[in-house]
Amino acid sequence: MRILKSFVPVLLLLVVSFFGYQKYDQLPSVIINGIVFLPVTLAVLVMGLAIHFNRSPVFFYVILVVIANIVLGLGMASTYLAYALVSILLPLLLLVLTLLPERGIFSANAIPAHATLLSSLFFTFVIAMMSPEWTEHLLLSDWLPARYFDWTPQSQSVWLVSVVVFIYMLVLCFVRTSPHMFAGLGVLVMLIAQLHFGETSRSLNMFSSAALLMCLYAVLQESWRMAYLDELTELPGRRALREKFQKMSGVYTVAMLDVDHFKKFNDTYGHDTGDGVLRMIAGRLRKVTGGGVSYRYGGEEFSVVFNGKSKEDAAPYLETLRESIASSLFVVNRVSRRQNDRKPSDKNHKAVTVTVSIGIADSTGDVESPWDVLKLADKALYRAKGKGRNCVSG
Ligand code: GH3
Ligand code: MG
Ligand code: MG
Repeated sequence: MRILKSFVPVLLLLVVSFFGYQKYDQLPSVIINGIVFLPVTLAVLVMGLAIHFNRSPVFFYVILVVIANIVLGLGMASTYLAYALVSILLPLLLLVLTLLPERGIFSANAIPAHATLLSSLFFTFVIAMMSPEWTEHLLLSDWLPARYFDWTPQSQSVWLVSVVVFIYMLVLCFVRTSPHMFAGLGVLVMLIAQLHFGETSRSLNMFSSAALLMCLYAVLQESWRMAYLDELTELPGRRALREKFQKMSGVYTVAMLDVDHFKKFNDTYGHDTGDGVLRMIAGRLRKVTGGGVSYRYGGEEFSVVFNGKSKEDAAPYLETLRESIASSLFVVNRVSRRQNDRKPSDKNHKAVTVTVSIGIADSTGDVESPWDVLKLADKALYRAKGKGRNCVSG
């Protein structure tokens, strides 16, 4: 689902941009006139948003699109070798900037990214000026029969690098799924297309606009995620719960879930292992049945909301959830605090279980808002703790 949300818009923009490129001359003049200003407007907008939300990968993608536009738009890569150099540099830079850890945009930690960008631009410029023989051999030689490449002005080396970077980025999208990763893949395809189709304004306008729209979508999607999703568990957070509560009326149930003896768990196995347990519990909560929607309320407390269900209707689903958590094994490395020894060893390796207590309440009683129901669920949770934990109480 997450992959689809990031992938579909990028795919749509790819299709629209190629279609727009083919039919550019038939587009109404109002669109053609407007599209001329689109790349600049989008570049300024997306760069501003990327800086505001500190989204460094997107910021650098925009920089690459801008560089491509300046180099191609001003015809700076005038020799075949210089063009091939730029065509190899941009995809490679995109990959390297994607792989560099996210360290902000203007912080001292971001120096490696800026240094990579500037030094590779500098060396490309120097190589293009000097045109040493080995670069011509490396970048412009035919490795395969030339007839396979008569559809493209680009050299075989350019295509080799482009395809390898594309496959690498595609794999990264599935390994490290995130909106900016898919935007990076889309920007890569747009850069390759732009460089293949050449320095025409239709190629620059269509493909740059599409690339920048992909970046815009990624920034908006990532800032939405920052606002609404809890970072550790990736469940919707308190803000999302508040918005859900504003919309709710009629019959509904709110459940409050709290991990049992979690302080002791942290003390025994360490806070990082505790975080892992919270992620595991969130995984079970995400799969809660009966139409329940789960939220991280805060700390080791979660809320589950069942719209349209009384607490009698919702209870069996919560019972199933409680059982599924209690029966999940979690492999931990026991931390010996006395020896301050955090190294895993077979002796310390063991599978443990955690349990949760759940309190439920519904809107059928004397309540005015979902927050009142939540308070009742919290009281019920307290009773579940009193009953010995690892149970559901209404
Ligand atoms: P009870 O069964 O009564 O709920 O006991 P408890 O120890 O779970 O309750 P208590 O409220 O005393 O402790 C909650 C603990 O949850 C304290 C805190 O260290 C831990 N905790 C809260 N948020 C996080 C988190 O994000 N990560 C980790 N690892 N621990 C957390
Ligand atoms: Mg608690
Ligand atoms: Mg607890």
